[in-house]
Amino acid sequence: MATEKAPLPCPPEIAALDAQDRLSTFREAFDLPEGVAYFDGNSLGALTKASKERVLHTLEQAWGQDLIKSWNTHNWIDLPITVGEKIAPLIGAATGQVIACDSVSVNLYKLLSAALSLQPNRKKILSTRNNFPTDLYIASELAAQRSPNAELILSSPESLVDAIDNTVAVVMLTHVDYRSGQISDMAKLTEAAHNHGALILWDLSHSVGALPLELDQAGVDFAVGCGYKYLNGGPGAPAFAYVAKRLQRDFKQPIAGWMGHKNPFDFSPSYEPASGVQSIAAGTPPILSMAALDGALDLFSNVDIEAVRDKSIALGRLCQSLISQEPVLAELSLAAPERPEERGSQIAYRHPHAYAICQALIARNIIADFRAPNLLRIGFAPLYIRFKDVFALVKALAEILQSESYTEERFNERARVT
Ligand SMILES: *Cc1c(COP(=O)(O)O)cnc(C)c1O
Repeated sequence: MATEKAPLPCPPEIAALDAQDRLSTFREAFDLPEGVAYFDGNSLGALTKASKERVLHTLEQAWGQDLIKSWNTHNWIDLPITVGEKIAPLIGAATGQVIACDSVSVNLYKLLSAALSLQPNRKKILSTRNNFPTDLYIASELAAQRSPNAELILSSPESLVDAIDNTVAVVMLTHVDYRSGQISDMAKLTEAAHNHGALILWDLSHSVGALPLELDQAGVDFAVGCGYKYLNGGPGAPAFAYVAKRLQRDFKQPIAGWMGHKNPFDFSPSYEPASGVQSIAAGTPPILSMAALDGALDLFSNVDIEAVRDKSIALGRLCQSLISQEPVLAELSLAAPERPEERGSQIAYRHPHAYAICQALIARNIIADFRAPNLLRIGFAPLYIRFKDVFALVKALAEILQSESYTEERFNERARVT
């Protein structure tokens, strides 16, 4: 096995790309395992040293020593808002519009319900068939619960604009498609929704931390996003929710928990929502996870997100170009926009044996991922992926396809999580 892991000589022109990379020093902020090339930061971001320190401190000092006092002395109680405020600049949101809480799924439920309630004379939730499954499950079950006053309508991405009319209450879209990486035009689609009096909710899970976002400027109404992908908040990190200031006065979400109450420690028998985004909170925040996300976000205060985007495009372009130079890789068919500018920070290829190929890559310490039924998905987290990692990935792919080593039985046994 040792030979499988031996680093490949890297051509000088690729080494030069790493030498010129303005973001290269960010890699040191991560606690990456030796010898691993990690192309799955779009599924679970890597551990930052800052997260590790914050979690250890939270465990040992805050929880271990200071115990319950820490809700005040370590400002645990404010973490959902302070973490939300650190996410806000990454999505182009002014202060007072973002909170970190719950999962994307739960936040979708809360915001979609609120959107329907803001539009009492309309009942349609409009989305696209290719949307992320949890988004569609949440919307479809919510519509069933509120039937006959709600229904979910699905369109193809191509006919979405035509499907928006004045019967639509809310348009629910994902900004970067999790499979193809296709970026949707946020400004244009938000305007199209508003032209027909519909609200819009954007899922930013595959966008935030990877490319510039301008929610306020586009006039977006609602958004949700993931904390454990490009934000590197750790497995199951809290998600976030954005509600535009102008909607906050009339906004009412359905999970009336005490952390969204105006005065939770009055222990009043009746619910009175807090003002602003605090009312989106429901139960007690998971402080260890919040600490991990909070630590990871400190990294972004020094990051120029435009530079992240430029590097992401360059990584994607290099990957495509190297793949096209390997004759055996013609077996892979591109399942993403041809132009890297139209993709998020990822690329995907179809192959009938994508799962086994992915496992064979992982055995060589090159971690990419597989998405059913036949996609090999490669994520480029620009803060820690190097150009030479892309070179190693493509060489390994070529060897795996050339030798057909992916047909080995050990690469074809499916685990529960793929
Ligand atoms: C990752 C992801 C989610 C995750 O949802 P959770 O409920 O937080 O697990 C939701 N939507 C999209 C588009 C995603 O990419």
